[in-house]
Amino acid sequence: MSKIETKAIHEGWKPGQGEPRQVPIYQSTTFKYDTSDAMGKLFDLEASGYFYTRLQNPTNDYVAAKLTAMEGGFAGMLTSSGQAANFFAVFNICECGDSFLASETIYGGTYNLFGTTMKKMGIECIFYNQSMTDEEIEALIKPNTKCFFGETITNPTVQVYDIERFAKLAHKHGMPLIIDNTFATPVNCRPIEWGCDIVTHSTTKYIDGHGVSVGGAIIDSGNFDWMAHADRFPGLTTPDESYHGLTYATKFGKAAYITKATSQLMRDFGSIQSPQNAFYINLGLESLALRMERHCANALAVAKFLKANDKVAWVHYADLEDDEYHDLAKKYCPKGTCGVIAFAIKGGRQASIDFMDKLKLATIATHVADARTCLLHPASHTHRQLTDEQLIEAGVAPDLIRLSVGIENVDDLIADLKQALGE
Ligand SMILES: *Cc1c(COP(=O)(O)O)cnc(C)c1O
Repeated sequence: MSKIETKAIHEGWKPGQGEPRQVPIYQSTTFKYDTSDAMGKLFDLEASGYFYTRLQNPTNDYVAAKLTAMEGGFAGMLTSSGQAANFFAVFNICECGDSFLASETIYGGTYNLFGTTMKKMGIECIFYNQSMTDEEIEALIKPNTKCFFGETITNPTVQVYDIERFAKLAHKHGMPLIIDNTFATPVNCRPIEWGCDIVTHSTTKYIDGHGVSVGGAIIDSGNFDWMAHADRFPGLTTPDESYHGLTYATKFGKAAYITKATSQLMRDFGSIQSPQNAFYINLGLESLALRMERHCANALAVAKFLKANDKVAWVHYADLEDDEYHDLAKKYCPKGTCGVIAFAIKGGRQASIDFMDKLKLATIATHVADARTCLLHPASHTHRQLTDEQLIEAGVAPDLIRLSVGIENVDDLIADLKQALGE
C-alpha cells in the first residue's frame, strides 16, 4: 500500500487516456438521464448515480475518496463546513430522546452545537473529562447513549486524546467512537488505525491550508457493526419510510452510515460543499504532508523559544518533552502534532491581550491552521459566549493565547515574538 504522501497526490480522481490531469469541477446542479425510469431508480437508491448537487456531486466525491483513502476509511463525504460535519456525524445515529458522550475540551463551536443547539432538538450531550477514570466515565452512560466523541488534538487547549482507550471503552458498551481529526490531519494521525469508527474534519483548517474555503468531511471506517447493536441504532437498522422502507445496514453493509448521511441528512439539510471549494481542498491535500512538516517544525521551535522566556507564564504544546500530553503525542502523532500552541504571558488576561496587540507579522484572526501565522484570545473571541465557569470546564484559561504557527521562516516569527515581548 502506498504511503500517505503518495495517496495525497494519486487517490481520488484517476484520469483515463486523454482526460484532464486535475480533478474536473462539475459545476452543475443537475445531471441528465435518458429515461424517467433510469432517474427513478436513483431516487429509490436502487442504482447509484448523480441527480442533484444538494445530495452529491462528482467533484466532491473524488475529493472525499482521496481523503477517505488517506484516513484509511471505507466511505466518505464532504460537507459545507466542519460544523455541518460534526452535526451530521452525531445526528446520523442520535435522535430526539437520545444522548451521547463528548469530551468537554472540544472546540468551542462544537461545544455550543452539542451542548446548546442539539439540546433544543431533544438530544443530550453528556460531557466527560479525559482525566476521569474509565469507571467514572462509564457511570455517565445511560441506556439511550449512542456514541463517544472526541478531538485528536483539542482546539484550543492542544491536549492529545487517548484514542485507543476511548475506542475500547465505546466498543465495550456497543457504541462507535467519532473523532474530529482537524488539527492532526491524516498526515500526523489516522484515528481509524487506533480503533476509531468515524472521523470528521473541518477542512477549513490545514487541509485547505490557505484560508480560502470553509468545508468539512466525514469518513467512516465501515468497521462498526450496526446490526450487532440493532436496538440501539434504529435509524440504520429499521426501514426508512422516506425511501420506501429500505434498511441502510442490511442493504448497504459497510457503506450504510455514509449512505444514510448522504441520502437522508444531506437530502433534507442540504449542507453540501460547493464543487469549487472541493477543488480547492483537493489542492490543499496535495501539499498537506509538506506543509504539516513545516508547521510542526516551526511550532516546536516557537514553543521552545516561548518556554525559555521568563515573560511567558506557561506553554502547552505536546511535542515539548515535558508537556503533560507528550507520551500520548509520541504514540499517536510520532511525526509531530500540529502547528498550534497554547500559552500565556505573565500578568494575566490583560498582559496576554497587550502582547497580542504588539505583534506585527503574526496577525489576530478568527482562524487557525493555515499558511499564515495568526493568533487569537479565545476568552475574548471564539469562546466569548461561554461563562467563566464553562471556560474553565472547557480547559480554556482566561489568559490563554492560541498561536497558530504558519509556514513562514521561523527566524522571522521568533523575531516578531521578541519585539512584542519588548526584547
Ligand atoms: C474550526 C473547527 C471546527 C468547525 O469547522 P468550520 O469549518 O469552521 O465549520 C470543528 N472542529 C475543529 C477542531 C475546528 O478547529
